[in-house]
Amino acid sequence: MPPIDDHLAIFDPVTDPDQAERYLTDWPRDAKGRARAILRPRTVEEVAQIVRLCAAAAIPVVPQGGHTGLVAGGVPSADGTEVVVSLERLNHIREIDPANFSMTVEAGCILANLHAVASEHERLFPLALGAQGSCQIGGNVATNAGGLNVLRYGMTRNLVLGIEAVLPDGQIWNGLRKLHKNNTGYDLKQLLIGSEGTLGIITAVSLRLFPKPTQVETAFLAVENPAAAVALYGLARRDLSDLLSAFELIGHVGVELAQEATPDLRHPLETRSSHYVLMEASASGLVDLSALMQRFLESAMEAGHVLDGTVAANSAQAGALWRIREDLVEGQARRGRHLRTDVSVPISDIAAFLAKTDAALAQAEPNAIPVAYGHVGDGNLHYNVLPPPHMAEGDKPAFLKRCEQVVYAALPEFAGSISAEHGIGRAKLGSYLKGLAPEEKALTEGVKRLFDPKGIMSPGRLFEV
Ligand SMILES: Cc1cc2nc3c(=O)[nH]c(=O)nc-3n(C[C@H](O)[C@H](O)[C@H](O)COP(=O)(O)OP(=O)(O)OC[C@H]3O[C@@H](n4cnc5c(N)ncnc54)[C@H](O)[C@@H]3O)c2cc1C
Repeated sequence: MPPIDDHLAIFDPVTDPDQAERYLTDWPRDAKGRARAILRPRTVEEVAQIVRLCAAAAIPVVPQGGHTGLVAGGVPSADGTEVVVSLERLNHIREIDPANFSMTVEAGCILANLHAVASEHERLFPLALGAQGSCQIGGNVATNAGGLNVLRYGMTRNLVLGIEAVLPDGQIWNGLRKLHKNNTGYDLKQLLIGSEGTLGIITAVSLRLFPKPTQVETAFLAVENPAAAVALYGLARRDLSDLLSAFELIGHVGVELAQEATPDLRHPLETRSSHYVLMEASASGLVDLSALMQRFLESAMEAGHVLDGTVAANSAQAGALWRIREDLVEGQARRGRHLRTDVSVPISDIAAFLAKTDAALAQAEPNAIPVAYGHVGDGNLHYNVLPPPHMAEGDKPAFLKRCEQVVYAALPEFAGSISAEHGIGRAKLGSYLKGLAPEEKALTEGVKRLFDPKGIMSPGRLFEV
């Protein structure tokens, strides 16, 4: 064994093949890799020592959080040269400061646990996504995750006050400020947010908190089409005094997929439509949110934006409505390999984008089953595609690639993006590089060279090897 591997062996590597399995793939299981070593450091200093050793020997390093990423960024390469650094043991809450509306936590903390800690202190950490029981805050920051509450609270980028990271030469950068305003020079933490492991390993973050909502109103509404959903969104922003916290569009296929995954999941409405909206408003303090919601629904019905609807009477009913949105993701996974996209267009172009893409896909691949849903308030759509039921496994990759090209081809007309929230990783590298303007490419490469001149951090993600 060469000396470098002896050195790395002191960081408690995972050697049991069964245990190693989960570090070699991620949630979609579309890609699988091999690793030179899988290490689980317990302290920031240990992370720094690992990176210093790897930098000295020019060994590539890939950080890992909760393995829920959807673009194969955390999956080690197939050639087995990369050292995996799992952050799962760096999972301490360093400080919670309710008066400052902030908390400082280590990268390996599971997102759902942070919700619970904030809640104990009458605060809200608003980042919410289907994977919150497994994903880690370090992974969320590294991917600049979006999720369900972006329209009110912004992306992860808007929720981070400070960062501590191990840089690609093994230095520890302590940028863990918890200031809400700090205008001194370049905001370097923003470069690490969304860098997908290519500029360093995030080891801790200071996060922005909000008052814990004491009133929540959740409604499931049938709408005639996506244009009606967009009109309804505008009305909701106005009538709910900007207390809207989520506004999801779900097609009827999405509801069916959720019921396929969870057979006891009841359709909440008598009326059947091609599209539904799942929306939530929340408030703390003295506002009468229930009355606001009632008035909004009355004006939405009067304006003809809503065909039918139901408002959850309690948190159990609200949970059942949210399960439709959560379980439709599982329903797609159960159908096997499929196309997942997370495109964005201006909110005002959602209906036109969907109409154009539906028509183009029906013409190019008549057997494709589109499953479009998403975060209307962010213009972010998951225009996914399932292959027809009896397609041979071997034919699926080429088929799904063709479908992806159809979806992406509709974007330039709307100046849209191929990734609203999941990032680029390895899965979208080709399409990302194709759309990068020369001046953007030069600046991006310059940033990478500045942070990581040896190119050891997550090679092949965001940049070609
Ligand atoms: C069911 C489901 C629903 C989802 N819903 C959403 C959604 O609504 N919105 C959304 O934005 N995303 C969503 N995602 C994808 C989302 O990107 C991830 O869930 C999450 O942000 C990744 O966190 P993770 O800890 O699992 O990271 P991983 O999957 O482990 O890693 C993701 C990337 O970050 C890097 N990384 C991880 N930790 C660190 C670190 N500490 N320092 C530096 N780099 C690091 C990895 O190298 C990799 O490139 C969903 C995923 C699933 C499975």
